[in-house]
Amino acid sequence: MLVDHHCHLDFEQLAQDRVEVLARARDAGVGIMVTISTLVSKFPDVLAVAEAHDNIYCSVGTHPHNADSELDVPVSKLVELAAHPKVVAIGEAGLDYFYQKSSREGQALGFRNHIAAARETGLPLVIHARDADEDTAAILEDEMAKGAFKAVLHCFTAGPDLARRALALGLYVSFSGVITFKKSDELRAIAADVPLDRLLVETDAPYLAPMPYRGKRNEPSYVVHTAAKLAEVKGITADALAAATTRNFFALYSKTPKPAGWADHTASATSRDAAAQSQVTQTPARQSQAETQ
Ligand SMILES: [Zn+2]
Ligand SMILES: [Zn+2]
Repeated sequence: MLVDHHCHLDFEQLAQDRVEVLARARDAGVGIMVTISTLVSKFPDVLAVAEAHDNIYCSVGTHPHNADSELDVPVSKLVELAAHPKVVAIGEAGLDYFYQKSSREGQALGFRNHIAAARETGLPLVIHARDADEDTAAILEDEMAKGAFKAVLHCFTAGPDLARRALALGLYVSFSGVITFKKSDELRAIAADVPLDRLLVETDAPYLAPMPYRGKRNEPSYVVHTAAKLAEVKGITADALAAATTRNFFALYSKTPKPAGWADHTASATSRDAAAQSQVTQTPARQSQAETQ
């Protein structure tokens, strides 16, 4: 089973034929999707998609593009909305100096507010970082020193320094279809160095379709192509890559219920799978206990 932990199913490009899009995702082995919030004011639309489907969850937050328009959303509002059982993450928030649709100051303030919400809820923060490597790393280091939080750098397209500093802080790194593009050699080199237990895969649909669909509308089923490229980069089988990234998904997005029998379908039912399973039933996931199961 693969997970597409970052897509935008409420966007109009995916709304019209969502039934077919979701059927293709299921056929492709994409068992869970997380549809990501970009505006708190439109969060009800995102939540509605998640509530309508057993295997779809969502986040709550304000994209850096929209940061200036939602600076009045307090951390307490994010925390309150995140209490819904279908909300498994905070974000996406961060810094985008490429488009810079909001002021840098507004983006930084929004980023820090979302970090505070992630810290308070224990939910992972979905980070959007583009052309802002140094400031992203600096804010993450500054905030982590104030108190731990979980996070993923989504659709990673930054340089090796941000990857290194984020990994040192315990963050996860997620790759999108960009990694399949011909000119992405530097990105593939970074991915090769990300430890297998910190790696995630996503579509960011409807944007950034992987090869061979580059330029077309993206959809969750295409995550298979990105996962195949990532497996090649890591020198492992597609099954091993799917097992690892899905295990990582449940470790990071730990509020997401695991589908019945999920552990049975992983390539190797290791003690870590057993530990993950025991967390579902709320029993302590101690290694020694897991090994006896
Ligand atoms: Zn993003
Ligand atoms: Zn996104």
